[in-house]
Amino acid sequence: MVTAADIRQRAKALGFDACGIAPASEHPELRFYPEWLARGYAGSMAYLSRTADTRADVRHLLPSAKTVIVTATLYNTERPYSTECADPDRGHIARYSWGDDYHTVLGQRLASLVSWMRERSDEPFEALAYVDTGPVQERVYAQHAGIGWIGKNTCVISPELGSWIFLAEIICSLALDLDAPAFDQCGTCTLCLEACPTKALVAPGVLDSNRCISYLTIEHRGEIPEALRAGIGSHVYGCDICQEVCPWNAVAPTTDDPAWQPRPAWDNRRLVDLLQMPDDDLQVALKGSAMKRAKIAGLRRNMQVASQNVQERT
Ligand code: SF4
Ligand code: SF4
Repeated sequence: MVTAADIRQRAKALGFDACGIAPASEHPELRFYPEWLARGYAGSMAYLSRTADTRADVRHLLPSAKTVIVTATLYNTERPYSTECADPDRGHIARYSWGDDYHTVLGQRLASLVSWMRERSDEPFEALAYVDTGPVQERVYAQHAGIGWIGKNTCVISPELGSWIFLAEIICSLALDLDAPAFDQCGTCTLCLEACPTKALVAPGVLDSNRCISYLTIEHRGEIPEALRAGIGSHVYGCDICQEVCPWNAVAPTTDDPAWQPRPAWDNRRLVDLLQMPDDDLQVALKGSAMKRAKIAGLRRNMQVASQNVQERT
């Protein structure tokens, strides 16, 4: 027999920093998604519309699902990010992508957890594991699994870990003991909404991807619209501003997991040095990194925009 407590304990042993269990049901927070799509806030991420029906309930993916085991893994390393962002000559790279590709690392850890559950369980069960890429609204399940609440910056904030966390989940047909949902602790704070340089947070918890630097520098293909270039500042890949200003991250713990430590190629590099990296070096630095999503062409485009912004400021 495998219990929720066993799973939590095993998840910790495998390197996950938190683990909670949510019911596989239709949660009210999932109902806003079609409206968010209808407003055009997904930008050119057509896969989000294509999978909208599936995302409404994990049982569309696994009809036998009873629970969603949600894990959180801290990726916050010992680096003074606020200092880095104060220096416009540095190419800013989102913290989550400094180390190894979380899809691979966490995918292996989730597979180990499922294998261990199968060895322990005295009943057969079905399970689907996802690390970010599945058609699952994982933040909603994370909230219902007690991992943390969805902040006004749209990130899941754990009271213990902050928001520098990767989420990964197992949709499972086992009926396990459930955790209590996390409750909203943003209160009257609006720091993230005020700090967003492109005003992409159009309302508390509502992101217009078209304006978001993360979307523009990672997901968007082709030229970055002229009107949005200045707001990108020195960002070369992703953006952490709405997390950096969050008071819950001021006291967030750090991890010494080697997987998330910054690769030298991206570590606090000057924009001019990044621009001069030959394709071969970029290729090596992108191997096994989440940053390969933007491809070399995307990174070069971002570096050009960031350099232009710095030149115009000086
Ligand atoms: S990631 Fe950056 S651009 Fe996107 S909402 Fe947060 S602060 Fe704004
Ligand atoms: S900055 Fe404030 S409002 Fe924004 S997510 Fe953090 S606590 Fe919530």
